[in-house]
Amino acid sequence: MDVIRSVGALRATLAEVRRGGGRVGLVPTMGCLHDGHLSLIRRAAADCDAVVVSVFVNPTQFNDPADLAAYPRDEDTDVALASGAGATIVFTPGVDEMYPNGFATTVRITGALTETLEGAVRGPDHFWGVATVVTKLFAMVQPDVAYFGQKDAQQCVVVGRLVADLNLPVELVICPTVREADGLAMSSRNVRLDEHDRKQALGLVEGLDAATTVIRAGEADASVVAAVVTKTLLGRGVDPDYVAVVDAETLAPLSRIDRRAIIAIAAPIGRVRLIDNIVVEPLGD
Ligand code: AMP
Repeated sequence: MDVIRSVGALRATLAEVRRGGGRVGLVPTMGCLHDGHLSLIRRAAADCDAVVVSVFVNPTQFNDPADLAAYPRDEDTDVALASGAGATIVFTPGVDEMYPNGFATTVRITGALTETLEGAVRGPDHFWGVATVVTKLFAMVQPDVAYFGQKDAQQCVVVGRLVADLNLPVELVICPTVREADGLAMSSRNVRLDEHDRKQALGLVEGLDAATTVIRAGEADASVVAAVVTKTLLGRGVDPDYVAVVDAETLAPLSRIDRRAIIAIAAPIGRVRLIDNIVVEPLGD
């Protein structure tokens, strides 16, 4: 497995793969890899001849400098884990390699997709930062297929829009959310939860489980479902930034769950902000 830091070396290595007709997969990450990331890498390794795992803590998608500074980083462990899961290249460019002097281009997805949910709390420029770095990674790696996690549901929708709008020749594969044994969605930020926070964080999955239960029992009124989730969170002492029931394709708020929907939660827990979501199908008649 190669650890590559420059775009030039990456291109040279991938040119050889392509000469052999190999299929190239890309798994973009910000490192501090856990089983959620590894599930994406394993899926890519099963589908592709070469798997590039990018590890880059992208400054342009952080709205809070303290959050960027505190973001966990552990390159040696990441390289070992990525290799064990089937990566063939870990691409870990420095900030200067990604954004050299004079860098002046931003990919902006306008409108509701980037202004709602995380965009409403963190600002739409969070997703502009994501869209810009993902576009650059696609241009650098030119993957046949790129893997993203459902855990970041809005990011998946935004990247889907980006790929469609710019006719980017890449297939997207969205992989299911990987959870700890007690249900907490895996996240690089979980390492910053202390024992008390860790218990409180279970409120998110408990809220989503409560939503599943009432929906299965026939509830389709989105405000009732959202209220059940909120009550569960507050019961754990968690005050959410939002609890939203939205159309899974457009992220538009739903009043009734009469189509494929996402129930999304974001909440501050201790020193971190966690997000989680589930996709729900409407009950048949
Ligand atoms: P990050 O390093 O947090 O930017 O995540 C890199 C990729 O891994 C994104 O596509 C995430 O959605 C995905 N990911 C993060 N956590 C999980 C998880 N618990 N299950 C599945 N995918 C995940």
